[in-house]
Amino acid sequence: MNVPSFTEASPLTRRQFLKSSGLAVVAGTLAPPKAVAQSTDGRVWVAISLVTLAVARAYPAESEWKVGLANVRITPEKPVPMAGYASRTKPFEKVEQDIYAKALALEDRQGNRAVLLTTDLIGISRAVAELVCQRIQDKTKLVRSQILLSSSHTHSAPMLSLEERTEAGVAPEDARNIVAFTHSLQDKLVDMAVQALSRLEPARLSWGSGVAHLAMNRREFTPKGVILGVNPRGLVDRSVPVLRVDSADGKLRAVLFDYACHNTTLTQTNFSLCGDYAGFAQAYIQERFPGAQAMFMIGCGGDANPYPRGTMENARELGATLGREVGRILDAPLKPVIGPLNCVFDHASVPLQQFSRVELVKMTNGPSWQTGNAKAMLARLDRGEKLASVYDVPVAVWQFGSDLTLVGLSGEVVVDYVPLIEQAIGPLQLWIAAYCNDVFGYFPSARVLKEGGYECRGLYTTEGFFAPTAQDVLVAKVRELAQRSGRKLAE
Ligand SMILES: [Zn+2]
Repeated sequence: MNVPSFTEASPLTRRQFLKSSGLAVVAGTLAPPKAVAQSTDGRVWVAISLVTLAVARAYPAESEWKVGLANVRITPEKPVPMAGYASRTKPFEKVEQDIYAKALALEDRQGNRAVLLTTDLIGISRAVAELVCQRIQDKTKLVRSQILLSSSHTHSAPMLSLEERTEAGVAPEDARNIVAFTHSLQDKLVDMAVQALSRLEPARLSWGSGVAHLAMNRREFTPKGVILGVNPRGLVDRSVPVLRVDSADGKLRAVLFDYACHNTTLTQTNFSLCGDYAGFAQAYIQERFPGAQAMFMIGCGGDANPYPRGTMENARELGATLGREVGRILDAPLKPVIGPLNCVFDHASVPLQQFSRVELVKMTNGPSWQTGNAKAMLARLDRGEKLASVYDVPVAVWQFGSDLTLVGLSGEVVVDYVPLIEQAIGPLQLWIAAYCNDVFGYFPSARVLKEGGYECRGLYTTEGFFAPTAQDVLVAKVRELAQRSGRKLAE
C-alpha cells in the first residue's frame, strides 16, 4: 500500500486533520496525493482520506519511528599517547573526563534501519572504520550506507592505529598500547551498534537549529603567509543543529547536536584525557536533562578553532555555552521529522595534485605544512611505487522524508563547503556534518588551496595533496547523492 507523503507545503496540517478525525494529535502535516490535491471531486478526497485514516490508525503517531540507544565508556585502561599534536608523544597523565562512544539506531515505519555512531575521538580512519562497519553489517544485516561513524576530533583522546608505529617518537610499549586500545575500541563499537539495534522502541523525532559563538576562523593572514592563528573576519559556521528523540510518551531520550569547530580548546600542553568542549557540552546536556543521551557530531570546522582557548576552564566554559544553546533549542517547539529514512553512501574519486620528483624535492624545503607529505611521497617513489592520482572520499546522505537531509562528509572539511553545498542542494532542512567514516586529512576548498596554509597539508593516512578541482568533484557527488536519497533539488 502506498502511504501518503507528508509535506510542509500542505494547507491542511496533519495535526488539524487528525484532530478533526478524532485521532491522536500528532506533529507534522498532511498533504493529499498530488492527483487528489488537484482534483475538485470531493468524493475522491473523502475516499483517499479514509485510506489515510486507516494508515494513521495502523501507524499511530508514536510509532513513526523506533529508536534504540546505547553507549560505552572508551576511556583506555592504560594511559596511551594522545592524538592531534605532533609534539606530544607521551601518554596522558590523568583522566579529566571519561570519553564515550554512543549509538543512535533508527527504524522507520517501512522497516528501514540505520545506526549512527558518535565518538569522543580525534577521527576514525578508513582502516579502522571499515572493519567496524563490516562486522556490524555481518551481525545486523544493515548495509554500509546505513552506518554512519563519526568522531568529535577532540585532541585530548588516544591515538588510534592498527600498526605499532614508533617513528613519530612514540615509545614501543606505548605503540603496543595504542594498537590494543584501537582493537578494543573496534570491539566496543560493534557491540554497541548491535545493542542499540536490539533496543528499538517507539519514538518521535524532531529537529531545530540555534547559534553558538565559540568558533573562530583560524587562518590568519600574515606577511609570511597563512598561519594557524586567529582570523575574526574569516568565515565560520556557528549554527547548532539539534535532533531531538522523544519516547512515545514524550520523554526526552536522546539529543544529537552538531557544531563546526575543532575540539582544540586544550592545546599540546594538556596531558589530561578529555572530550574538550564537545565532551563538556554533552555532559552539560545530560546533567540538565537526566536520562537523555547527548551525542555530538562536528561540522565543517576544518579551519575553525574554539575561542578563547588554552585552558581546561576555557573548555568547560565553551562546553557550557554550547550546552546552554542546545538546552534553549530543546525548550522551544521543534519541527517534526517524519520518515521514510533513505540512506545513500558512495565515494567521490577526488583528484590529487601531480608532482615531478624535482618539484617534490623543492617542496621538502617549502612551508612546514608541505614538507611532511612531500617527504612521504618521495619515499614512496624511492620504493619504486607509483603515487596515487585520486583518493576515494566517502560521502553519506541520510534523507528523512521531506523534513531533513543529513550530509555526512569525511575528512577535516573547511567551512567553504557549507555555502558550496547550500548552493548545490539548497540551504533549507540541511544538516552538514564532517569527520565521518574516514578522517584521512584536511579537505580544503579551491580558495584555501590557492591561499596556502596548514589546511593544504593533504592526506595524512596516506600520501598526496588534493587538487583544486577536488572541490567540484566533492560537491557534485553530494548533489548526486542528495538527489538519489530523495531530497528535492532545484534544477
Ligand atoms: Zn584537525
